[in-house]
Amino acid sequence: MRVLLSMLGTVLAATVASAQPTLDIYHVDVEGGAATLIVTPARESVLVDAGWPGNDGRDVARIQAAMKAAGITRIDHMITTHYHTDHVGGLPPLMAKVPVGAFYDHGPMPPPFAQDFASNYEAYLAAVKQRKTLSPGDVLALKPAPDNTSISLSVIAGHGKVLSSTDDPRNTACGTVPAKADDPTDNARSLGFVLTYGSFDFFDAGDLTWNTEAKLVCPNESLAKVELYQVTHHGADTSNHPLVLQALSPTVAVMNNGPKKGGSPVTVKALKALPSLQAFYQLHRNVATGPDDNTSPDLIANLEETPDAGHMVSVHVKADGSFDVVNHRTGQKRAFSSQP
Ligand SMILES: [Zn+2]
Repeated sequence: MRVLLSMLGTVLAATVASAQPTLDIYHVDVEGGAATLIVTPARESVLVDAGWPGNDGRDVARIQAAMKAAGITRIDHMITTHYHTDHVGGLPPLMAKVPVGAFYDHGPMPPPFAQDFASNYEAYLAAVKQRKTLSPGDVLALKPAPDNTSISLSVIAGHGKVLSSTDDPRNTACGTVPAKADDPTDNARSLGFVLTYGSFDFFDAGDLTWNTEAKLVCPNESLAKVELYQVTHHGADTSNHPLVLQALSPTVAVMNNGPKKGGSPVTVKALKALPSLQAFYQLHRNVATGPDDNTSPDLIANLEETPDAGHMVSVHVKADGSFDVVNHRTGQKRAFSSQP
């Protein structure tokens, strides 16, 4: 019997090992904050933001659950998009539980700090001894996939600057969308990047706001189409510039809103109107608005305000660029192909 069990174990292990490795992206539910875990086919890990502090370690536990689902025990690269509580607050408590390799952010901030900024930033500085600044144009080196399919993370925004080139085509639509009041907060300095794996592209720009987003598409159109869009700034309507949405033309969008945070009806409407969009996922139902201002319930990971089980949405990408999206509340998996 023992021999049989051991043989069965070997067969199972062989089956797992022969399965094609995927790029896995976990949109962790941190209740209107951000924590996105990327695990490459070579099983290298990148965590983008770490949720909120407090709440009895709620967000740390949810990030650890995503790590467990991905089969990893450490974070190789920690990217903090900006220094707001809902993105960086969860990092010091996470570091008490999980080994982290390298830290990246948009750069040092000079004092004096506004009161709401000081505590987060100073806690971050105290926790992180060595950090690297990422700037537009930087590429985070990642180990190639076992089959050598290329993978890279390219920074397109940071510290209020963006990657743009006058070699890119002029955008004739500039001027059709008015600017908004300048944003003095750290949101405008968010890091933004495009993760590329073969023909698959994922865009995540933290909480980047309108006028900085606009620089990505005006006067020159510096963005290309993507398969996956993490809806910027939890779906706030001070972000998600329509010309950016048009340039990215995502196949799938995932919005990391909370039950009463983000998920603006203006953003929801703009996303639903995108001809490219095949599925629009939300980490939460927006309980403050109605069904028309939410996606369809089967694409929502958490329906109720309380109790909240913290279900994730995860994305699993094959080397040919095709990908599956899983709503962890229902277990439902939908398949998509990459754009030509
Ligand atoms: Zn935020």
